[in-house]
Amino acid sequence: MHGPPVSVRGIAIDLNGHAGSKDESPSARLLIHYRTRSQSPSLSSFQYRSPPVVSISIMRRFSFCAGHRLVGHEGKCQNLHGHNYIIEVYVTGQKQDAVGRILDFKQLKNRCKGWIDDNWDHSFVLWQEDQNGLDAIRSSEPHRIYELDSNPTAENMAKHFLEVVCPQILADTGASAYKVILWESEETYAEVTLD
Ligand SMILES: [Zn+2]
Repeated sequence: MHGPPVSVRGIAIDLNGHAGSKDESPSARLLIHYRTRSQSPSLSSFQYRSPPVVSISIMRRFSFCAGHRLVGHEGKCQNLHGHNYIIEVYVTGQKQDAVGRILDFKQLKNRCKGWIDDNWDHSFVLWQEDQNGLDAIRSSEPHRIYELDSNPTAENMAKHFLEVVCPQILADTGASAYKVILWESEETYAEVTLD
């Protein structure tokens, strides 16, 4: 997501010293600012006239149903219950292919939806240390359980999807996920972003 060093330095100078007008591009604002500072720009100052660095990302949204409970929660969420989740997966890539894509939407769909269908949809997502909860669900037949290494809050589920799942399912695509948003209800979501 970060541009080459010259762009990073340029943006820092611009932000620190010059607001610019709204209709100027960032690179133009930078060049004007540099002239103001140096008064007599040398040839080297025009090194900053590199083309703007663009980053491209795509997103796809998926829905699934799952049960969980939060160990240690002070309210209703300590009980076994479920949500209609929506997960948004944001992906970026180093370059576009010959067609102009960083990743085909159908590939993104198949890989994400495939994993969600196999693991989370219509399952109970439970903390692997929630022995009482695991025993309760295991006592019913049939059952589907996904054991998480942390309490299954929206934050931890989104983090797990971004850090553990996405690197696996996108491994051979040349693209990578940098942000996941998990909606637990229409009003509440957790967002996890790689720095
Ligand atoms: Zn819940």
